[in-house]
Amino acid sequence: RKGNVIITGASSGLGLATAKALAETGEWHVIMACRNFLKAEKAAKSVGITKENYSVMHLDLASLESVRQFADTFSRSGRPLDALVCNAAVYLPTAKEPTYTAEGFELSVGTNHLGHFLLARLLLDDLKQSDYPYKRLIIVGSITGNTNTLAGNVPPKANLGDLRGLAGGLNGIQSSAMIDGGDFDGAKAYKDSKVCNMLTMQEFHRRYHEETGITFASLYPGCIATTGLFREHIPLFRLLFPPFQKYITKGYVSEEEAGGRLAQVVSDPSLTKSGVYWSWNKNSESFENQLSKEASDAEKARKLWEVSEKLVGLA
Ligand code: NDP
Repeated sequence: RKGNVIITGASSGLGLATAKALAETGEWHVIMACRNFLKAEKAAKSVGITKENYSVMHLDLASLESVRQFADTFSRSGRPLDALVCNAAVYLPTAKEPTYTAEGFELSVGTNHLGHFLLARLLLDDLKQSDYPYKRLIIVGSITGNTNTLAGNVPPKANLGDLRGLAGGLNGIQSSAMIDGGDFDGAKAYKDSKVCNMLTMQEFHRRYHEETGITFASLYPGCIATTGLFREHIPLFRLLFPPFQKYITKGYVSEEEAGGRLAQVVSDPSLTKSGVYWSWNKNSESFENQLSKEASDAEKARKLWEVSEKLVGLA
């Protein structure tokens, strides 16, 4: 049978390119988990994904109610789940004030981390039950959360501190809207959320890999300077960022190439190692990359897991 893969945020950018790459193999049915049903349908058509290779399901990660409904509907559909890709994200670098999810969490961390955390937890049983030769849970990470890299050292740097803002509810009322309890900064909130994504992947690995055989992995697909992620940025940035990445940092990858990389992490029979953060070298060969001190801090990962469980209502 075909494998079944859920990709969140498959209506544009990396998610769409990955959906296309997997669908084209003829070996995967892609469930595009998207907040805008019509946009997702149009996107699938625009890149030529054929009808029998995908379905669109509604998922708004900025609402835990929607996440629960999605997981419930999927589980009851009887379709096996062989891979889950947590890809969707928002990036609000120019926001002066925080905005919030339905449950009142700061939007970047609420969407990118908490929504995916609940989704992955709720779908873990479905993944466990899959009889596919390999089953994988992939959470898209980023270099920007990694302070051991040049890009990760561009201020404001990611820093989760002692998680006091998160533990306080991240709601800008009783607590700060930032994980570390500091003043709101949209760019930092995104980087913090990516550190959470990478810590979550490792904590899943420690808790569940041995017992379930599921491969948990993260990746940095390269700088895809053309995606919608930068839609909130100032126009001059959007104009200069792609050529800057192409010619100066040379970290630029096309959406198609990045989609191929993520598709590889989902389906390549040789990439079964769990707990790994994948990156690609100049020749486009994958390698196991090192995470920053904070993004590989096991104690912080455990604490983040426990605090997040409380916030999404699992504990
Ligand atoms: P895009 O903005 O093109 O894609 C993001 C996707 O997330 C969109 O499909 C968007 O939906 C979806 N999304 C946003 N909010 C929600 C929500 N509440 N519920 C459901 N879906 C939502 O950006 P990219 O393709 O660049 O980003 C994809 C991933 O790649 C992210 O995890 C990002 O952190 C990561 N990444 C990107 C890099 C880059 O250089 N671009 C580099 C490293 C990592 P909609 O279409 O409706 O807006």
